[in-house]
Amino acid sequence: MTFVRYNTRRVFKRFFALITLCCLSFIAWGLEEQNTSKVNQKQSQNKELSPIDQLCQKIGSTLGSVSTRQCLSLNMMDYKGRSTKQSALAIKEYSPVEGVKPLGRVLLMGGIHGDEYSSVSLMFRWMEILNKHHSGLFHWQVIPLLNPDGLFQKPKATRQNGNGVDLNRNFPTTDWKALAEKYWVKRTYRNPRRYPGPEAGSEPETRWFMKQIETFKPDAIIAVHAPHHLVDFDGPQIPPDKLGPLRLRRLGTYPGSLGNFGGGKLDIPVITVELASAGIMPPSKEISRMWVDMVRWLRKEVPKQRQATLEREKKLSAKAVSTAEPRAALAAEKTSSTEQKLSGTEQKVSGSEKNVSDFEQNTSDVAPHASLN
Ligand SMILES: [Zn+2]
Repeated sequence: MTFVRYNTRRVFKRFFALITLCCLSFIAWGLEEQNTSKVNQKQSQNKELSPIDQLCQKIGSTLGSVSTRQCLSLNMMDYKGRSTKQSALAIKEYSPVEGVKPLGRVLLMGGIHGDEYSSVSLMFRWMEILNKHHSGLFHWQVIPLLNPDGLFQKPKATRQNGNGVDLNRNFPTTDWKALAEKYWVKRTYRNPRRYPGPEAGSEPETRWFMKQIETFKPDAIIAVHAPHHLVDFDGPQIPPDKLGPLRLRRLGTYPGSLGNFGGGKLDIPVITVELASAGIMPPSKEISRMWVDMVRWLRKEVPKQRQATLEREKKLSAKAVSTAEPRAALAAEKTSSTEQKLSGTEQKVSGSEKNVSDFEQNTSDVAPHASLN
């Protein structure tokens, strides 16, 4: 009897231990499954979002006047440009229209300084205008945000990129080696906001933008900044007197700036637009007036720039064929380019005023936006 009772107790104990073990294993398996499915969910979410989608999400959550939906609806192109922290550098292209020969190519760029929010928002307003009214007059490329890392920096946006470099001091201008660091040390007292980088073109954003210039070959570049409330100009052709409320004020050049690089080294007209505020968008009417004045200027000056480029290319190829000495061709090219610049300055402004009213009409229906970014 004692034997039977002893055996029953032992069997019961073993059974209880087995049940406990099963329960623990089941709980452990459940927890692991939960973790795995969370990781899978996260991975699949990231897989679904393209780099441009991720960029738009961040833009939508950072800027008050651009929504994620609005950004996504533009279907911007991913030309595989990446910032220091691997954000996409997006482009929206407005290609030539069938049957219309464009007057030239125009490159618009905003957000080279991450804390100049309005410069990015303005790009989206101008893209709205182009979405409605692109007629093929120009071939446009729009880069709304060249410095995403600066804009998305936490706890607040920074002027510099992810490496702490001021991209608008990082272009390989002819004076970069001799002056960029000297200028930074002596004139800015090593202000980190103006750091030109360890060498010219050291930053991925700078190099990518240079590549865009090289492949797109713009006849004019418009770069938007804030908050100095003016228009600056570098390079050949006649500068605009004003863009909407912004008046022309030549600031001179800085080592490594885009104006210095595009205008001075590459001979491309560069308009630098300085909005009045980095955080508040200009009123809708001002945005339209700026657009109208800009298009008016482009209509006048881009054909001249196009012509000058074509002539320069023609002369260069003719000289390359006729002479075996490339240095001589380059020297002659320099002279002819200077002559071209001089004749361009002397050239009188021809009247194209009658076409301006078309643009005023086209841009008058832009919805008012004066929100805080
Ligand atoms: Zn700026």
